[in-house]
Amino acid sequence: MNNKGIIAKYRRYLAVTGATPVITLQEGNTPLLPAPSLAKLTGTRMEVFLKCEGANPTGSFKDRGMTMAISKAKEAGTRAVICASTGNTSASAAAYSAKAGLTCFVILPKGAIALGKLAQAMMHGAKVIAIDGNFDQALEIVKEISEKNNITLVNSINPHRIEGQKTGAFEIVDQLGRSPDFHFIPVGNAGNITAYWKGYKEYKRSGRFSRMPHMMGWQAAQSAPIVKGYPIKNPKTLATAIRIGNPASWIKAEEARDESKGMIGMVTDRQIIAAYRHLGEVEGIFCEPASAASVAGFMKLAASGFFKQESRSEAVTVCILTGHGLKDPDRAVAESAKPRTCPADVKAVLKIMGIKNSSRRKR
Ligand SMILES: *Cc1c(COP(=O)(O)O)cnc(C)c1O
Repeated sequence: MNNKGIIAKYRRYLAVTGATPVITLQEGNTPLLPAPSLAKLTGTRMEVFLKCEGANPTGSFKDRGMTMAISKAKEAGTRAVICASTGNTSASAAAYSAKAGLTCFVILPKGAIALGKLAQAMMHGAKVIAIDGNFDQALEIVKEISEKNNITLVNSINPHRIEGQKTGAFEIVDQLGRSPDFHFIPVGNAGNITAYWKGYKEYKRSGRFSRMPHMMGWQAAQSAPIVKGYPIKNPKTLATAIRIGNPASWIKAEEARDESKGMIGMVTDRQIIAAYRHLGEVEGIFCEPASAASVAGFMKLAASGFFKQESRSEAVTVCILTGHGLKDPDRAVAESAKPRTCPADVKAVLKIMGIKNSSRRKR
């Protein structure tokens, strides 16, 4: 289909005018893939779908928000943008800034960015600065710099980011022809859960569906400020995109949870990796570890019998897979079986393949 990006598709729901230069890389319109192996885990007739946001132009959902943030920055006459990032925001900001002809400054926690994301920011010509500190500190720094200089902040505290990202909810409803009953999503800085909830609320007014989903957010166990109820000084998790100790949209995430009668829970790194590998090996989907947190949460609830309750057994669930697995190749290699090596000969290869010999071959 003819994808012109989320601003063209959902223009009516967005604060753009004829004066807004639309900066797009044709984001959105991502696959909503059935995941029967996950549905089966519940022992019910429920249906599970994966919203594959890794299929966006820079490989994460951040592009939905960035097309809005950069278009509005350009409209306002900004020359430069800045962001703190665990990686994907910087990759997206760098690409859309390149397209818009804007300077892009990226402040990263040193050594905590997946290789693919760093490569993207560099390749798109962003000015990359790595600080000796974590994401939360980087965010404080960029807030101060953007307030005192004529540089636009494009983190998710920029309201245009949330506006663009809410289109993910519109798309899910358009693809399903209804709303999901359960919406599973990883929670880091909590912009995305905020955006989806806003999106569902606004789209409901259009009359396309009547029942709102339960928002089911998931944090990593050692980076779970919302679950614990206090900021985490030194958040840890191998899911670097959600390694955040003091989420900017904390209150909004709690509102989404409470208004939707949902929950925000936590999963261990071990559970995240189990979901990450399951998606790769059974569903053919390579997502990044942070994305697998939504599925890890689903698997945790499925194992506890959560979906067995009569009212839930025919539910429709959507899990958001926020970013592509190729972003973090080091993690993929670390968690998978290593390639075997052998001499360059058929016999040696067959031996490793576990095939005795191909004796039928005659000469
Ligand atoms: C940014 C990001 C998240 C976290 O989203 P928030 O809006 O910060 O909660 C999760 N997964 C991936 C892949 C991301 O890039």
